[in-house]
Amino acid sequence: MTDNLSAQNRVKTMRAVKSKGTRLEKHIFAMLAGMGLKGWRKNADDVVGKPDIVFRELQVAIFIDGCFWHGCPHCRRPMPQANREYWERKIARNVHRDAVNRNTLVKGGWIVISIWEHEIRDPAKMKLVKQQVRAAVQCNNAVRQEETA
Ligand SMILES: [Zn+2]
Repeated sequence: MTDNLSAQNRVKTMRAVKSKGTRLEKHIFAMLAGMGLKGWRKNADDVVGKPDIVFRELQVAIFIDGCFWHGCPHCRRPMPQANREYWERKIARNVHRDAVNRNTLVKGGWIVISIWEHEIRDPAKMKLVKQQVRAAVQCNNAVRQEETA
């Protein structure tokens, strides 16, 4: 019985975190659209690590990382008291997998931009992210042009 309840709670927590993630992504989609950038796609399931956004030809990948799920060192979200060990293991695995995936992408010539959930609420930080995205797109654009020249 206790187990059932905690499992239900876990599902609830996961849903709450997930839907919040979707709202945050929308900020970034709006930002990209506002920047007049084209050629990006959401949820690239066939790219390593399933980035939230990719510029496929330019090989620029953007990850929007939920502070809880990806173990943000800045926020240090407290673990739920119930199933604490489960969460700690799960998040440690996520952090490890993120590092491995991003390493693989970079080795393959991708530029990887990671945006923390908490950064989306900070206008100054978002300005930097914008510059980062624009620089990444321009950089790999220049590389492509050199390659085809
Ligand atoms: Zn954070």
